[in-house]
Amino acid sequence: MVYFDNSATTQIDKHVLETYINVATTYFANPSSLHRLGDESKQLLEQARKQVSQLLEVTPEEIYFTSSATEANNWVLQPLALKAREQHPECNRVLLSAIEHPSVLQNKKWLEQQGIMVEFIPVDASGQIVFEELKKLLNNEVLIISTMAVNNEMGAIQSLDKIAELLQDYPSVLWHVDGVQAVTTCFDLLKHPRIDALCLSGHKFHAGRGTGIAMLRNRLCKVPLLFGGSQEWGLRSGTENLASIVATAKALRIAVEQQETTYQRLLKYKTNITQVLLNQGWKIFSNEKTAPNIICASYPGIPGEVLVNAFQTYDCYISTTSACSSKRKQTHHTLQAMQVSEYLSKSAIRISMSHQTTEEDISYLLDVILKVTQQFK
Ligand code: PLP
Repeated sequence: MVYFDNSATTQIDKHVLETYINVATTYFANPSSLHRLGDESKQLLEQARKQVSQLLEVTPEEIYFTSSATEANNWVLQPLALKAREQHPECNRVLLSAIEHPSVLQNKKWLEQQGIMVEFIPVDASGQIVFEELKKLLNNEVLIISTMAVNNEMGAIQSLDKIAELLQDYPSVLWHVDGVQAVTTCFDLLKHPRIDALCLSGHKFHAGRGTGIAMLRNRLCKVPLLFGGSQEWGLRSGTENLASIVATAKALRIAVEQQETTYQRLLKYKTNITQVLLNQGWKIFSNEKTAPNIICASYPGIPGEVLVNAFQTYDCYISTTSACSSKRKQTHHTLQAMQVSEYLSKSAIRISMSHQTTEEDISYLLDVILKVTQQFK
């Protein structure tokens, strides 16, 4: 079996799984319990928080563990957005880049119901934010701007430096960055000091399902997401998923330690794959400004689902452009925002790698690409 759907989820790393099992079995006590076992769990929790904070170069008080990035994104765009408006009643606009993940975009209706106007920041044909348009949209009425670091459908890397530059004139605008797809090869981008809120998801970097990370700067006015036992500095109640949190911190450390070599290796793989796809008549949507781990391409005239199935017959697992769109037959909203024709976007597939992808996986994949293309020629 070869797996190229790492942007949907990754296989848990075996060392990370060992950590998970060790913590789940040994440190099972509730971190809020007063006894020694509870205290040991609490220490482990804070160690994990510290580790994540050091990797992101923020303070431990700025790190919150959630159940997913979806939860973290919703936290920023719902209670935090309302709080921001309470502080700045003259501000009632939220800007979302047109290619955000549904866990960002789907907040539009809710925000509008609160009387907040939501506008989209357009992207160009390569998935990059159009800065001239962003410049026009920015003014002192903007509460929040959401821009992802790396797009999940085709891998566009946004120039966060340039966005930060534009935001210099608007210090009160809350900048939210969805960094979920950036951990594999673009982690350093996420350390930009102007970012106010950052969301990550453990299962995208070889931790298990069930843990997200929200980095919320101390300078933000904090608002609880969930009320209850006052865990996570009183803002996100609920007994901590300790084993998964510790495993996530470890997986993040591994991803960051391997970042440089992963980047170079996957870039080489991407170049090879892209070349073969082009030679075979595929259209490529991921250019040089996209992350080395994600390739989005289409074979004109053949539906993406059919291509995914054809790859699967060779025990090779790819996806249509996102896990969210694939089962529900939703349109590929990123490609749509890039003005890709419906004809081409219907045929789009995504090949996504991780630091576990090997040279052997690549040669197998290249062979499958040749066979599948031959089949449809
Ligand atoms: N943001 C992006 C860019 C994603 O790709 C995903 C998952 O596909 C999410 C957010 C949601 O993450 P989670 O599965 O942790 O809710």
